Amino acid sequence: MLKRKKIIILGATGSIGMNAIDVVRTHPEHFELVALAALHSKEKCEALAREFGAKAYVGDAAAERAVEENEADICLVSTVGLSGLKPTLIAIEKGMDIALATKEVMVMAGELVTRKAREAGVRFLPVDSEHSAIWQCLAGAGRSGRPSKATIGSARPSSLVEATVIDKLILTASGGPFLDGPEDLGSVTVSEALNHPRWKMGKKVTIDSSTMMNKGFEILEARWLFDVPVKDIEVVVHPESIVHSLVTFKDGATLAQLSPPDMRVAIQYALTWPERLPAERAKLDLAALGSLTFRKPDPVRFPCLRLVKEACEMGGCATAVLAAADEWAVQAFLDGKIGYTDIAKKVEWAIEHAPKMECESLEAVLEAARWVEKEVGSKK
Ligand code: MG
Repeated sequence: MLKRKKIIILGATGSIGMNAIDVVRTHPEHFELVALAALHSKEKCEALAREFGAKAYVGDAAAERAVEENEADICLVSTVGLSGLKPTLIAIEKGMDIALATKEVMVMAGELVTRKAREAGVRFLPVDSEHSAIWQCLAGAGRSGRPSKATIGSARPSSLVEATVIDKLILTASGGPFLDGPEDLGSVTVSEALNHPRWKMGKKVTIDSSTMMNKGFEILEARWLFDVPVKDIEVVVHPESIVHSLVTFKDGATLAQLSPPDMRVAIQYALTWPERLPAERAKLDLAALGSLTFRKPDPVRFPCLRLVKEACEMGGCATAVLAAADEWAVQAFLDGKIGYTDIAKKVEWAIEHAPKMECESLEAVLEAARWVEKEVGSKK
C-alpha cells in the first residue's frame, strides 16, 4: 500500500503543475497537497489551494517561502528556468525528495545539487518524460548488475569510471515544429516557434524544444541524474513522441519506455515511485500507430546540441552561462528584440566569452547568471 505523501508544488499554475494537480485530484487517498507556489496567476493559485486545503504562495519569493514554511515528502519543482535553483536547494536541505521538472536546475548546478542531495540523503525523482523513461528502463538493473531499487539519488561524479551495466542512454526528441523545414530558420516568427506539434507546454520550454536546446539541457539532466558521461548519451529524433527514451546495456539489450504523449504518466510515476497506480487515460495502441520512425538530428539547423556539449567540455560555470544566456535570448526573441537564429548565436557568444569560473556554490552559479545579464544583451 502506497504511503500517503505530502507534496509541495512550485510552479503550480504552469502546465506541469496543473498536470500534477490532476494526478493528485485522481488519487486523493494517496496524496496531500500542503503548499502551492506560483509566480503570477494569484486567483488561480488561491482557488486551487482552497480546493485542496493547501497554502498558496504567489509572487517573486513564493517558491522559496513555500519550501521554507512547510514540510513535505516531495517537492515538485516546475518553475520556469533559473528561478527553480534556490528553492530546490532549500527543499533538499529540509530533507524533501525533489520531483524535478525544471531542468535548468541540473544544467546550471548539477554538481552542486546532486552533491547536496547525497549529503542530505534525498532523491531526485525525474518528471521530464525522457528521464522518467530512462528511470523506468533502469528499474531492476543495478549499476554493477545486481538488482537495486533505483539508481536515482546515487549519482556520484567520482564513480564515472566504475564498471557499469549501461552502454548508453538514448534520448528521443520530437524534432519540434521545424523538423522538416524551413531550411533557413532566420525568418521564423514567435507564433511559428510556439506551435509545438506534440506537447502543450510553457513558452520557454516550447521555444527551447524548437531550437533543440531543450534536448541539450536534457543531456545534462541525464548526465547528473544517472551519473552517465555525456559521451555516452545520444539523441535520436522520433517525431511521433511515443518512445520516450531508451537505455542500451552492455550485454546488447536495449529497453525503451512507450506511452501516448501525456505528461501525467511521468508525473504520476515520480509521485508514486516505487509503485504504480492505475489511471483512466489513453493507452498505447501499436497497431493503430502502424509505424514509428527515427532519424539523426540535423547539426547545422540545430546548433544548440553542439553548444551544450561544448559547454560541458569547458566545465566550471560554462553550463550555467549557457542556461542563463539561453533564458535571456529566448525572452529577447519572445519580446521581438532578436531573431530566431540569434538565440543560438547569443548563447555561443556567451559561453565563448564568459570568464572561467568554478561552479561549486550557489553564489558562483548566480554570479555566472549576473555576468550573462550584464554582458550578453549588449554584444553580438
Ligand atoms: Mg522532455
